[in-house]
Amino acid sequence: MALTSRPRGTNDIIPGEIEFWLDLEEKIRTVCRAYGYKEIRTPIFEHTELFQRGIGDATDIVEKEMYTFLDRGERSITLRPEGTAPLVRAYIENNLGSGTLPVKLFYYGPMFRYERPQAGRYRQFVQFGCEALGSSDPLLDVEAIALPLEIYRACGLSGFQVQLNSIGCPECRGAYREKLVEYFTPHTDQLCKSCQSRLQRNPMRLLDCKAEGCQRIIEGAPVITQYLCADCQDHFSGVRTYLDELLIPYELNPRLVRGFDYYTRTVFEVVSSELGSQNAIGAGGRYDGLVEEVGGKPTPAVGYAVGVDRLLLALKGQNKLEVNLEGPSAYLVHFGGATKIKAAQTAHFLRSQGLWVELDHMDRSVKAQMKAANRLKSCCVIVFGQDELAKNQVVVRNMQDGREQEVVLDDLGQLSKIVGACGK
Ligand code: AMP
Repeated sequence: MALTSRPRGTNDIIPGEIEFWLDLEEKIRTVCRAYGYKEIRTPIFEHTELFQRGIGDATDIVEKEMYTFLDRGERSITLRPEGTAPLVRAYIENNLGSGTLPVKLFYYGPMFRYERPQAGRYRQFVQFGCEALGSSDPLLDVEAIALPLEIYRACGLSGFQVQLNSIGCPECRGAYREKLVEYFTPHTDQLCKSCQSRLQRNPMRLLDCKAEGCQRIIEGAPVITQYLCADCQDHFSGVRTYLDELLIPYELNPRLVRGFDYYTRTVFEVVSSELGSQNAIGAGGRYDGLVEEVGGKPTPAVGYAVGVDRLLLALKGQNKLEVNLEGPSAYLVHFGGATKIKAAQTAHFLRSQGLWVELDHMDRSVKAQMKAANRLKSCCVIVFGQDELAKNQVVVRNMQDGREQEVVLDDLGQLSKIVGACGK
């Protein structure tokens, strides 16, 4: 293993790319503010049990994909594979439900899953998620869809589609489970090993299997929507009514189940036409049982997670990644020696005023320094010539219109104003 190669499935985000990430983060924060969602930051690792209980033992993530290890105190620790279970843990531990409900929170940060890396699928990736806890109002389900759609819209993304389903509550799932076992049992021999074991433990997980052999059998399986109880049907129809009234287009997909056991009732996924096999740019749903499962009071909740890496890939595919890369306010050209010291002092002051100021550290010629200033798209150049310095002056050259003015160094506040006004 070469020391210079990063672990498989991870990415470096380097200057030239980070700008897109920061721009997207800003858009996310702006939309969250409009919807009243407050940021929460939880640890990158948690006790393994949180995910085993929260996500569910029979899920792909818990069975095959978690980065789990014993720490030096022999505790089983897991790098978070998703953000909802940690957020719910923090909601309970910090008693966040004691105030006005619903509590609306968002998170943004890296997640870790030991998956087979490919374009759009990594072992470390970033998710943004919004979660509303404390209400079962179907309008909140719709808000959990509308908020990320607003983010996609703010980025200029097109060609995406919302897929929607309801997977009911534990009550209506009982009858459905029986039907699934009845349907799959005669096909047991054709199912993959994981599905054979899931058939007994959690038959709904079969519907999520990507193995080709299983897929063919899954196609003929009964769909959950036929087994919803009256309350779940009402809730689902409420969600659809609000979506229609808010003119949010969606497609019903009765086969959508999602890869976590905590979902109840509404589930949704947004797919982009821009991406290949990894085309989901976000997904979510209602999880009315999770807070209680993790140890809190029964609390209905709903949320959504955006795959930020994939969203950026989709935007790149549509040529929508553009940020205005600004240059420094000033490039200070010096001749070494005393002029370099004066330039350093001036840069020190201008930077304390919040201005982006660059100066040469490579002993370049004046001509090469001017070239560097141009390459960096500096708004102005300040020349610290020996003759000018003898008069305690510098020459400020506006790089846009070429105008030059002499400025006395006695009043650095004045210089700071001139530099700040350049390029405006
Ligand atoms: P999930 O947490 O599995 O519901 O995924 C929510 C979103 O996160 C997906 O729609 C993807 O956009 C993104 N995502 C999930 N897993 C990965 C991964 N391994 N690499 C990159 N993005 C991912």
